[in-house]
Amino acid sequence: MSKSLQAIRGMNDILPEQTPAWRYLENTFAHLLKGYGYKEIRVPVLEFTELFARGIGEGTDVVDKEMYTFLDRNGESLTLRPEGTAGTVRAVLEHGLAGGGQVQKLWYAGPMFRYEKPQKGRYRQFHQIGVEVFNLPGPDIDAELIALTWRLWQALGLADAVSLQLNSLGSSEARAAYREALVAYLKERYELLDEDSQRRLTSNPLRILDSKNAQTQALLADAPTLHDYLDEESRAHFDGLKARLDAVGIRYEINPRLVRGLDYYGRTVFEWVTDKLGAQGTVCAGGRYDGLVSQFGGKPTPGVGFAMGVERLVLLLETLQLLPAELSPAPHVYLCAFGEPAELAALALAERLRDQLPGLRLQVNAGAGSFKSQLKKADKSGALYALVLGEDELARQVVGCKPLRDQGEQQSIAWADLAERLAPCLEQA
Ligand code: ATP
Ligand code: MG
Repeated sequence: MSKSLQAIRGMNDILPEQTPAWRYLENTFAHLLKGYGYKEIRVPVLEFTELFARGIGEGTDVVDKEMYTFLDRNGESLTLRPEGTAGTVRAVLEHGLAGGGQVQKLWYAGPMFRYEKPQKGRYRQFHQIGVEVFNLPGPDIDAELIALTWRLWQALGLADAVSLQLNSLGSSEARAAYREALVAYLKERYELLDEDSQRRLTSNPLRILDSKNAQTQALLADAPTLHDYLDEESRAHFDGLKARLDAVGIRYEINPRLVRGLDYYGRTVFEWVTDKLGAQGTVCAGGRYDGLVSQFGGKPTPGVGFAMGVERLVLLLETLQLLPAELSPAPHVYLCAFGEPAELAALALAERLRDQLPGLRLQVNAGAGSFKSQLKKADKSGALYALVLGEDELARQVVGCKPLRDQGEQQSIAWADLAERLAPCLEQA
């Protein structure tokens, strides 16, 4: 195939054999979110570039290096969304959804775009399911978000494969004081820092904690920690969160170097990580962003949320062989018809059966074919029964019903009795 007809590197087709796993994950989570009272929001994949530059923050990897930004035909700078929080906050503000202190508990799902180095678990178009809550400042809702994700891991069988890392970033004043101490410490070791971190020492020093460079990470082992700079209120907030996680029995590890890659977080931050996927081990990440809404020009509005990486979770489910066997089940019946008059009758019969037995998986042969070839297709479909409708059956208003998965005899069933006779199929998965 010529190069122009290939997908863009790092942007994957999700093929029919993979989509059942995706749908399973999405449906499981959507169902769970409904139970907790969260509502879905859908926002555009394109926004004005300024939204992300302002919301995510200059000096972050995402804004500095990873955005897909272009001018549209009108000369406006647009960006394919690299994450879902900024667009959700924009929509909430634009439609006044959080006005008057109104609580909003929202979720979204969809593709995100980042110009990264594609590798296992890291792509240029990837998918997130995320949750954002507005106007609840306390640690109770932070705990609910974590409990919600924990319930998802249990529903998927992943509870033993992931673990929770937790930190508090404190108030912006606490972070400012800490920033000074960290910069002082790192300045003395400037030559040992990787290039990115040297640059960030002036532009955005806390990001250095997030560095993936091993030597930099080693340097950070003895650096001052944010914990020692936490303000009283943030400390109490963090204690409140820990107490609630303890009450539910959710285990966590405090990681004082957890800062998250995006700029808008304060107080609670958390990540669910796994050691089963190699380097790309974070499957879900989030935290509190009480300052973001006012950064966009809204009234101060507490916010907290998280996003999970769908590709990484599907990969994890596949790796651990946790996908239920029957995600794309075979038809219950495959209906064969021979000759135009029988085909017409078969189609009408099939539609009547679908009315009578919602949930019946019924495949009607298309493309005609001999008796032998249609029966072969019926067998290949994995159906339990082949229903056969030829000239003779048409005249007698019956179908031949041939069991395909066991040695039972073919039977003749009157059209009028068919729904009743097929009803037991529905008890099969
Ligand atoms: P990382 O440190 O792995 O780059 P991040 O901090 O940039 O992650 P977030 O912006 O917090 O990631 O996104 C939340 C989740 O989305 C991540 O934990 C991960 O599961 C997933 N994710 C982020 N970037 C990608 C990507 N390029 N490809 C696949 N999944 C991704
Ligand atoms: Mg990243």
